[in-house]
Amino acid sequence: MQINNTLAKTQTLQLGRDQKVQIDLLRLDLIHPVISGNKWYKLRYYLEDAIDKGFTEIASFGGAYSNHIVATACTCKERNIKSIGFIRGEQTNPLSHTLQAAISYGMRLEFINRTNYQNKHLIIENNSNQTRYWIPEGGYGILGAKGAASILEEVKDLQKYSQIVASVGSGTMTAGILNGSLSHQTVIGISSQKNNFSLENEVLQLTARENHHRLKMIHNYHFGGFAKHPSDLIDFMVEFWNKEMIPTDIVYTGKLLFAITDLLQKQYFKQGDKLLVIHSGGLQGNLSLPENSLPF
Ligand SMILES: *Cc1c(COP(=O)(O)O)cnc(C)c1O
Repeated sequence: MQINNTLAKTQTLQLGRDQKVQIDLLRLDLIHPVISGNKWYKLRYYLEDAIDKGFTEIASFGGAYSNHIVATACTCKERNIKSIGFIRGEQTNPLSHTLQAAISYGMRLEFINRTNYQNKHLIIENNSNQTRYWIPEGGYGILGAKGAASILEEVKDLQKYSQIVASVGSGTMTAGILNGSLSHQTVIGISSQKNNFSLENEVLQLTARENHHRLKMIHNYHFGGFAKHPSDLIDFMVEFWNKEMIPTDIVYTGKLLFAITDLLQKQYFKQGDKLLVIHSGGLQGNLSLPENSLPF
C-alpha cells in the first residue's frame, strides 16, 4: 500500500471543550497503516538528496522497535532504492514485528552489539561505499527537520493556533515544527525520554535563533522512561479511545495526549487557546504488546 499524505486531516477533540480550549489533532497516523506518522516527512528530503546525488542504497540506524527503521524500509521500497538497517543489539528469534516488517519491505539488517552501536562514526567508517547514503538515527539533521516542517503544510488554517504540541524523541520533528510555525505560536515538546535535558539543545541546534524563545520542553510525562508503558498509560490510552475513537501508541502519542489531558486539569492552558496537537503515528509499535491489550 502506498503512503498517501493527503489522508492526513485535522480533527477537533472533545477534550478541552469544558475549559473552552480548542484542541485540534493532526492525524498523521492516517497516511499509512505501518508508516504512520512523522517518519515519512522526516525522510522525504533525505531520499530526494540521495536520489539526486545518484546513490542507490540508503543506510540507517535504529533499535528493534524503531519506527524510523520500518519507515526507511518502506519509503525506500516505494522509491525503488535499496535499504540496509544497522540494528542495535543482538538478533532475536523471532524478530520483532517492526524488523519483520522492515524485511518484508526488502531491507537488509545488520545487528550491532550495544557497545559498538554507541559509535556511529565507526560503523559508518567500516560500512561505507560509494553507492550508500547514510541517514542519521531518527532522521536527526537539517534535512530531517526540513521534512518535518512540511508537516505543517497539511494544516489548512495554521495561523489560528496559539500553541503547537508534539512528542519528542530525537527532537527532529519538534525542530521542524518550530521552524515552520508562525511567530505568535509557542511550540511545546513533550519528551518521551526520562531526564534527557540535552534534548532542548538538540532541537535548538536545528532551528533558527529567532525561533528559540518559542520552544517549551516538558519532561515529566515519560512514564518511567523511553518505551516504558506501565498500566496507567495503557488505561489512559483505552479511555482516550473510548472518548474520542482515536488510537494512540505506547511510546509517543499516548504520553503526549496524557500530558495534554493532565495539563488541562492543571489549568496550564487558558480559555480561548487553540492547540494544534500532532498525532505523529507510531501505531505499529503497539504490536509489541500482548494480544488484546488495546481495543484498537
Ligand atoms: C519518531 C517518533 C516521534 C519523535 O520524533 P523525533 O523527530 O525523533 O523527535 C514522535 N512520534 C512518533 C509516533 C514517532 O515515531
